[in-house]
Amino acid sequence: MTRAVIESDVCIVGSGISAAMVADRIARTTSAKILVVEAGDDTVPLPRRAASRERFLRYGENPWGRDHLDGYEIEGPLQSRSMQVGGLAMHWGGVTPRFSPEDFKQRTLFGVGTDWPISYDDLDPFYQEAEVVLGVAGEQGPSAMDPRSKRFPMPPLPLTYNLELLKVWAAKAGITMWSQPSSKNSVAYGGRPPCCRNDTCSPICPIGAKYSPDFTWNALRSANRIRLVPRTLVRKLVLESGRKNISHAVAVNRDRPNEPVELHAKLFVVAAGYTWSSHLLLLSAQNGAPNGVANSSGLVGKYLAGHRNVQGYVDLPIRLYPGINEQHSLLTKQFMRRPKGSQYIRHDLRVWESSVNKTPRLTDDSGSLMLGDAILNDWRARTQTGTARVRAYYDVIPDRASELTLDPTRKNEWGDPLPKLSFRDAPESAALRGPTEEAIKTLFADMAKAGDGKLLRTSVDNFQDHPSGGCRMGNDPETSVVDSWGRAHDHENLFIVGAPTCVSGSCANATLTFCALSLRSANEIGRTVKKSS
Ligand SMILES: Cc1cc2nc3c(=O)[nH]c(=O)nc-3n(C[C@H](O)[C@H](O)[C@H](O)COP(=O)(O)OP(=O)(O)OC[C@H]3O[C@@H](n4cnc5c(N)ncnc54)[C@H](O)[C@@H]3O)c2cc1C
Ligand code: SF4
Repeated sequence: MTRAVIESDVCIVGSGISAAMVADRIARTTSAKILVVEAGDDTVPLPRRAASRERFLRYGENPWGRDHLDGYEIEGPLQSRSMQVGGLAMHWGGVTPRFSPEDFKQRTLFGVGTDWPISYDDLDPFYQEAEVVLGVAGEQGPSAMDPRSKRFPMPPLPLTYNLELLKVWAAKAGITMWSQPSSKNSVAYGGRPPCCRNDTCSPICPIGAKYSPDFTWNALRSANRIRLVPRTLVRKLVLESGRKNISHAVAVNRDRPNEPVELHAKLFVVAAGYTWSSHLLLLSAQNGAPNGVANSSGLVGKYLAGHRNVQGYVDLPIRLYPGINEQHSLLTKQFMRRPKGSQYIRHDLRVWESSVNKTPRLTDDSGSLMLGDAILNDWRARTQTGTARVRAYYDVIPDRASELTLDPTRKNEWGDPLPKLSFRDAPESAALRGPTEEAIKTLFADMAKAGDGKLLRTSVDNFQDHPSGGCRMGNDPETSVVDSWGRAHDHENLFIVGAPTCVSGSCANATLTFCALSLRSANEIGRTVKKSS
């Protein structure tokens, strides 16, 4: 059987947003030969996105075409199933808040969970760098709530007429809110145009005003700084015999499945997202690593983290014009900042305009057909008041048994067991679930009252958003998989980056943090590459 061999200095597994950060930084700071291996197909190019969006709006089609691998229907949350060049962040909403300092010191400050081996201040320069690479438009919140050492690279996205009114309402309830930081251009940036409020950021921005990783890949490819190989699934990391280093990876080219591919490199970077990173390490069990690569602690796949949300709708006696920009929101970090020793009830808070029950309709409440002026009169009457959507993410402290395991009953077409995911709260988090959700619902009710409005309904999402963990970082190899740089405790030349390395999930959209962590890892990878050349 013939086999293909590809040589590089740094081999990156996956081409999602974390991989893009690593490749971009190594390409900028070293002359290393970089290979990026992606299981999925190339993505829809920018010139085709307006048409793709049109079909999404008309027919509800997935605008990203073939972004799943056949047979990869895994048990558990959907989040890591988009497999294409750019990964999940081709779909994302581009919402980019930072975590807050408390997230890194939960044990010290509140006696729950586990402290990270790094602090917010350690990550601040890499947050800043991520904001520059992605292009984040943001407003500086009050510095006590929103610490940062430098300004955002772009001015904030302007608040719409609706959000200006909702901000005044929040202030009446004693809540200071500001424009949500977003990786959407408020001005022309990175060769891409400013946002013109097409309002379909997730799933697709038709003009490229929202950052997606393909922009980084296109730039690196056209500068000849990387080789990106799509449609190639890495199946195993193989150890050098008798040594602790990774010698090569074994992959399958989906177009030539009978011709195995070997990837040889000095350094391997697993950047395959929170599901597939742990999955690949577990699949790589072999002599010298009987429970999987990087898994002498037994913690690969454990401590999957994330946050749940409580959502509500509030009817307010203010006239809003629904549909100006429903994807942009107000944000506050007021409830994320808690003094040392407080009960661990921490959450973010966001407010959006909502068009629920406010769009024009053809039938009235009794189901009778309306014609002509009746339609406009009905719409005018229903939009005398406005609806706000409010939502709070709260941190769920992960149990060890919040885990990804290999499912021997379900295999992919190459015979590898698929992953099985189950999320579980740590006991302290399970005990706090009721009081936390109650506190958030009370806050929503108080906000409604402050605006002479009415809380229409609330709901709790069981799903844990922005999932992470599975290869958590730490200083102790007994209780963590990687060090604070993402280097595997067990293998000198293996890094795991981004989401899997998180110790906890915070209570804010987490992808900017995955990017900052990836850039911090890339800093160390770059140092290692330079030392070895
Ligand atoms: C609809 C939607 C909206 C979202 N909106 C936001 C938002 O507004 N803000 C926010 O913070 N987050 C948001 N997210 C989450 C965000 O998209 C993800 O956190 C982020 O993209 C994860 O990036 P990643 O690099 O960790 O992994 P992924 O994007 O999962 O990338 C991993 C890549 O690796 C490839 N891969 C996996 N295994 C292998 C292998 N063995 N061999 C080769 N390739 C492999 C995969 O095909 C994939 O392309 C959203 C997600 C969705 C789905
Ligand atoms: S609002 Fe529209 S133009 Fe702006 S980023 Fe979202 S999809 Fe792109």
